[in-house]
Amino acid sequence: MAPLNQTTSNPILNVLKDTQYTWLVTGAAGFIGSNLCFFLLENNQRVIGFDNFATGLEHNIKDLRASSFSKNFEFVHGDIRNLESCTKACSGVDFVLHQAALGSVPRSIADPLTSHAVNVDGFINMLKAAVDSKVKRFVYASSSSVYGDSPELPKVEARTGNVLSPYAATKAINELYASVFQKTYGLSCVGLRYFNVFGPRQDPNGQYAAVIPRWTAALLDNKAITVNGDGTTSRDFCYIENVVQANVASALSPNLPNTHVALNVAFGQQTSLLDLIGQLGQLLQVTPQIQHGPFRNGDVLHSLANTSLATSLISYTPKYSFEEGLKLAVPWYVANHAQLSVNAR
Ligand code: NAD
Repeated sequence: MAPLNQTTSNPILNVLKDTQYTWLVTGAAGFIGSNLCFFLLENNQRVIGFDNFATGLEHNIKDLRASSFSKNFEFVHGDIRNLESCTKACSGVDFVLHQAALGSVPRSIADPLTSHAVNVDGFINMLKAAVDSKVKRFVYASSSSVYGDSPELPKVEARTGNVLSPYAATKAINELYASVFQKTYGLSCVGLRYFNVFGPRQDPNGQYAAVIPRWTAALLDNKAITVNGDGTTSRDFCYIENVVQANVASALSPNLPNTHVALNVAFGQQTSLLDLIGQLGQLLQVTPQIQHGPFRNGDVLHSLANTSLATSLISYTPKYSFEEGLKLAVPWYVANHAQLSVNAR
């Protein structure tokens, strides 16, 4: 992550040059949360990171603490299922960027109760804490999974389908609660429907890891890649810096209506899994070995976003295409492969 003017042309973010705010980033030890912390700190903001390390990595927090701007960083080891911890963390905060959750459709199918407890009970705790602390805005991670079985492409925010997994249900419930909290308590809320985010610091390890880091690690270890289905499944892969921009611009935007909004955050480009594997092979200069498994229960076949609502409300201008993002992410995985392999053990 680099300072503002190198990463984005979004004019809303210029406010950061003149004003130092206090931000609470939940899920700060995770992939998206740690990248948000780095960006905000590099742009002279004060950041409180909050995490219980359920899936987040301690070395992300160590890196933040070791950075040159660590004087503006505070870390709270806590669980969003505990209201008191959420209330303490929100005290004196201007903006909340709520990322903490248990991701992964298969994880939620294997253990729906824990996904619900974290993603729904934890979420409403954070909303309540944000209201009590009178935060200026609550921006939170929703998901493209709320589009469920809707076949429409590209996806537009107003038209969702029936959700296909417990994980998707938790994100749909998040949107409902955020909308109710805005109406009832006047808490300004923005939900960001992320579409397959990727980039540095995304964990390649474990059975629930996302495909880009998992397959990159497999190729670096000369292992075969397992594709669920025939590989024609497609996704709108979105590089992390676009997602960071969307979060910060959502918090600062003066152009939002007085009602809750949910916005697509993606690049707006469809890539099949076979295309992805081809590009990973090229960048790593290897010939991927592929084995096919059954298509996964709860997954959607195709995904592609229309991002014009985000453009009009938060001036969202994704700077990195899938190919540009992959050219930045893959060298990071190569450089950090040894360290990440140690974490896997
Ligand atoms: P991640 O697993 O890397 O980060 C989630 C973080 O939340 C972890 O650090 C974890 O330890 C923390 N956490 C989990 N339970 C907690 C609890 N009870 N209390 C405190 N902290 C807790 O995942 P990510 O990819 O960075 O995802 C961030 C958010 O974005 C999540 O809400 C996820 O559902 C959403 N999302 C991600 C993607 C994607 O492609 N990565 C797509 C759609 C939505």
